[in-house]
Amino acid sequence: MQNINYLPGVGPKKAELLKQELKIASYEDLLYYFPYKYIDRSKFYSIREVNTKLPYIQVKGRFTSLNTVGTGRQSRMTATFTDGTGVLELVWFKGHKFVKESINSEAEYIVFGKPSAFNGQINIVHPELEKINEAQVKISSALQAFYNTTEKMKKGFLNSKAIQKLQQNVFLSFQGKIPETLPAGIIEKYKFLNLHESLKAIHFPPNSHQLEKAQLRLKFEELFYIQLNILRQKNQRTKAIKGYVFPKVGEFLNAFYSQKLPFELTNAQKRVIKEIRRDMGSGKQMNRLLQGDVGSGKTLVALMVMLIALDNSFQACLMAPTEILATQHFETISEMLDGLNIKVALLTGSSKKKERQMIDEDLQSGELQILIGTHALLEDKVVFNNLGLVVIDEQHRFGVAQRAKLWRKNSQPPHILVMTATPIPRTLAMTIYGDLEVSVIDELPPGRKPIETAHYFHNRRNNLNKFINQELEKGRQVYVVYPLIEESEKMDFKNLAEGYEYMQRVFPNYKVSMVHGKMRPAEKDEAMQEFASNQSQILVSTTVIEVGVNVPNASVMVIESAERFGLSQLHQLRGRVGRGADQSFCILMTGYKLSDETRKRMEIMTRSTDGFEIAEADLKLRGPGDLEGTQQSGLPFALKIANLGKDGQILQFARQVAEAILDSDPLLEKEENYLLNKQLKKLAREKMNWSMIS
Ligand code: ADP
Ligand code: MG
Repeated sequence: MQNINYLPGVGPKKAELLKQELKIASYEDLLYYFPYKYIDRSKFYSIREVNTKLPYIQVKGRFTSLNTVGTGRQSRMTATFTDGTGVLELVWFKGHKFVKESINSEAEYIVFGKPSAFNGQINIVHPELEKINEAQVKISSALQAFYNTTEKMKKGFLNSKAIQKLQQNVFLSFQGKIPETLPAGIIEKYKFLNLHESLKAIHFPPNSHQLEKAQLRLKFEELFYIQLNILRQKNQRTKAIKGYVFPKVGEFLNAFYSQKLPFELTNAQKRVIKEIRRDMGSGKQMNRLLQGDVGSGKTLVALMVMLIALDNSFQACLMAPTEILATQHFETISEMLDGLNIKVALLTGSSKKKERQMIDEDLQSGELQILIGTHALLEDKVVFNNLGLVVIDEQHRFGVAQRAKLWRKNSQPPHILVMTATPIPRTLAMTIYGDLEVSVIDELPPGRKPIETAHYFHNRRNNLNKFINQELEKGRQVYVVYPLIEESEKMDFKNLAEGYEYMQRVFPNYKVSMVHGKMRPAEKDEAMQEFASNQSQILVSTTVIEVGVNVPNASVMVIESAERFGLSQLHQLRGRVGRGADQSFCILMTGYKLSDETRKRMEIMTRSTDGFEIAEADLKLRGPGDLEGTQQSGLPFALKIANLGKDGQILQFARQVAEAILDSDPLLEKEENYLLNKQLKKLAREKMNWSMIS
């Protein structure tokens, strides 16, 4: 790890900038600072061919005149440049004094930039200039790499071009080759470029084919080591940790199934329950992620598998991210278990002291069989008699550390089932939750009509109101959601409050409730309850109703300022309607001015109701860092080159290779795998908080 200070061209100031701005402290860090784009500089245009439709171009020629126009801050310089086929105007608004002084009118130059037009004359504003003899980079490349830099760096003369020069200096200062980080066996078998060639081609691609090969090798390597690490940990865990064995299905589940089950299970529900049963009977500790779109019936699955725990004389708990949701689960489940002689309790932050005491006692004696609640379940004073299964609803709201707390509630960890309605694309699941098994409910209960979604600009508010009125007259209920991303944002709050008053004014014959995050839990519950029991017909709220809430009679979801929501969140919100038998609607309200990306988001929402399709689209549009649900649980490391939205196939392949290696050498003890072991240790030390991947 050669210190970056020693690199020719890097003085103390630049070294400091590199460290501060890009965390580049060594030659190696610099080599792994990859370009974000490439521009083909093998082609020269004749000035005659240049037009404004072309992207970045380069021409070769000489200056014929330099004119400064105006004075002081308003001044600019225009230069005429010719190659004999035509004349091009070059314009500088800033820094032209320096440019003017440095231009040699005898010399031949390469001019590089984006052509535009002004007053009918084609020009290039602030082009890059290179004198021909200077332009010969020592390492030749047809594609020029471009690097992200910051404003601070640019002020310190570290622009993209300067980074490129530094990359060149690294290669020129190298004696021999950059040491390989993948075993020779893998490189041979899959015909990868070696590391030295790959890094060189990433920074100085001789052609696009070589660039692709370099990218493939580096992406593979990045994803491969992540998978290798996850899979090895999983192997070790399954070896080290035993799981409770739940061999039987007994009276509780049977009684529920024959007496209480309100409908036929969907095939997907049946399959998923089977998968979970198999896990819980295997002797291994279950760690399973249950994905199912909103409304797919996850609660019922949770209940039935909790009953299996009870049948084997264990306790079970169900944890939800909000009080509203926990309460709703408690009510639904209590009702479904009514008459079966099963003891269920609700524990939240607002449980009364006396209640708590009773819960604590019954929990420790084992009399209390199912405990439902919020984060309050995690507190140390909550002690179970024999907790066998933990179900976590809407898991992305809980951090990994919190989950680990539940693990430790027993001498032996309970089985864990995490449920989420935020469909995580396979590629992402394999990376973040790579050591969880995944079950998917890919089928909605029969009879659901797909929700109709429309995108309205604000000027159609009257139409919207007319439509809402029609639905209210039919006896339906309506949600109106406002963004309140930062609960402290005054503006957002004002919008919400105004929206509430507006709805009261426009619909005087109906009752309007309001829910937001700043209300006390009791107030919130009361307002929610009002809406759930149809005492109020319109609910104006923030995204606190985003997860889980179930009011089947609500058939309209209006999302205000929809442009401020991500795709997954829009889909979640929309999932609050369409839960009954009636045709439901979602209306996305936005202003006129929308970015291309936002337009795409609205377009996808109006076209698709498939959560997985939407999640994939989200991943492609925004990249995994922003993806709803991964922000909180956090992709614990940044990928340098692979892109989970686009490189799913490489990821799949990397996982297969890692699996095959671990199959034949679980502890990576073989001679040929020495490098793998070394590399994993190094990565763990350096940057990746591997333990975060649970
Ligand atoms: P989610 O997966 O979003 O948590 P829920 O568990 O809240 O979904 O279920 C949504 C609705 O579908 C509930 O009203 C539930 O009673 C109903 N439901 C669940 N399973 C079935 C089924 N197999 N047939 C019909 N309705 C079902
Ligand atoms: Mg749910």
